[in-house]
Amino acid sequence: MSFNTFNLHPRIAAGVKALGYDKPTPIQCQAIPPVLQGHDLMGLAQTGTGKTAVFVLPILERLMKGPRGTVRALVIAPTRELAEQIHQAIGSMGRQTGLRSVTVYGGVSANLQIQKLRSGVEIVVACPGRLLDHIRQGTINLSHLEMLVLDEADRMFDMGFLPDIREIIRHVPVKRQTLVFSATMPDDIQRLVREVLHAPVIVQIDPGVPVDAVAHALYPVDQHLKTELLLGLLRHTDTESVLIFTRTKHRAKRVGQQLERAGYRAASLQGNLSQNKRQAALDGFRDGSYQILVATDIAARGIDISSISHVINYDMPDTTDAYTHRIGRTGRAAKTGDAFTFNVREDEDMVRNIERVLGEKIERRTLNGFDYKKAAPARDTEFARPPRNSPRGRRQNKPEASETRTATHQKKMHRSESSESRKPVQRGSAHRHSIPQQRSGSTGHGNHARKPATSR
Ligand code: AMP
Repeated sequence: MSFNTFNLHPRIAAGVKALGYDKPTPIQCQAIPPVLQGHDLMGLAQTGTGKTAVFVLPILERLMKGPRGTVRALVIAPTRELAEQIHQAIGSMGRQTGLRSVTVYGGVSANLQIQKLRSGVEIVVACPGRLLDHIRQGTINLSHLEMLVLDEADRMFDMGFLPDIREIIRHVPVKRQTLVFSATMPDDIQRLVREVLHAPVIVQIDPGVPVDAVAHALYPVDQHLKTELLLGLLRHTDTESVLIFTRTKHRAKRVGQQLERAGYRAASLQGNLSQNKRQAALDGFRDGSYQILVATDIAARGIDISSISHVINYDMPDTTDAYTHRIGRTGRAAKTGDAFTFNVREDEDMVRNIERVLGEKIERRTLNGFDYKKAAPARDTEFARPPRNSPRGRRQNKPEASETRTATHQKKMHRSESSESRKPVQRGSAHRHSIPQQRSGSTGHGNHARKPATSR
């Protein structure tokens, strides 16, 4: 199949061509035609499958005709980063269409968003909390909405956004086309889907199909030698761009600084950064100004950077799901990638669990010439715990995942739509040396299992 079969408006086709997309991905092949025909869609797919174009292209196509300067398409996403990514995808694919999109999320000035909304945009990409603020304050008009997209619905559920989403949906026209994307289908998402979708086409990109694109290796090491090992490994490995995961925000920041001091173009991405700094770190990593990004699981969620050559787990992830998520950042779009994991003695149980999920023993490697016997410094400043009664120290060292947010925290206009969540996202199971995403799919038509939407 080629993009020509979609018969896109020449200005949109030009945008696709400029992006260098040769042929549609499986989800694009299956989902774009019914969406172009106006059907509702339930897309079971993760980031990395090409799902963004599944809604962006039909939105652009539909909006080419009809009035300009009024909000006709709304995409709701769980995090600011994902919202920005979608906004950028709209900008790229729609560069010749003259259609305008704006992002709406917390943590940045609401006035600027209001100005942009007033200036006349056709597409809004929003996180739920701030969008609801605008709705309540009458600073956004959704009465002409034709298309609604809920992206990463399961993550929005994890983050406690479902009540907000239900409220938003009460403020948009009943007659609309709705698309929902989710990697998993917990009960609450099934309920939501039944409420908001009308006779949807269901497209599932099987997350369990093996993709032998990632090579895994374990580097057993003592805790105090991790940074030295990291530096040694980077010196001896041919890397393009490297994403490093740490367990805490504090450690992400520290490792980023250590890499910078060692002469690497490195940045860290963690929840303590302002939105501008997060975006600068992401943009710099994406455009190659930073070769290395050090991140926590939460901060890295939804990062879509296709050219990551190496994922290095400086700290072992807490769950096997987190492992497959992390390594899912490399080996994307048919490229190959390497996943290195530093493991200390206490990680053995997790190593066994990961091997069980992969269905294979992971190769143990040592770095030639590295002094694994070097004793820990008398005062281990690197990993010393702060005094137990220091609230500041406690805050700095806890895993980022414990920085939770709930729906009840989302009441102020200046709240921030962060990447933080209440519990780990459950994704599809991983397979042998595979990333749990993309590649194959099956289409079902929604006349089974879906009843007409109650909100329409
Ligand atoms: P997504 O799942 O939408 O986040 O897309 C994952 C990555 O695949 C992004 O970097 C897209 O730019 C890229 N992509 C999407 N569709 C295609 C395609 N048809 N061909 C090549 N790359 C694509």
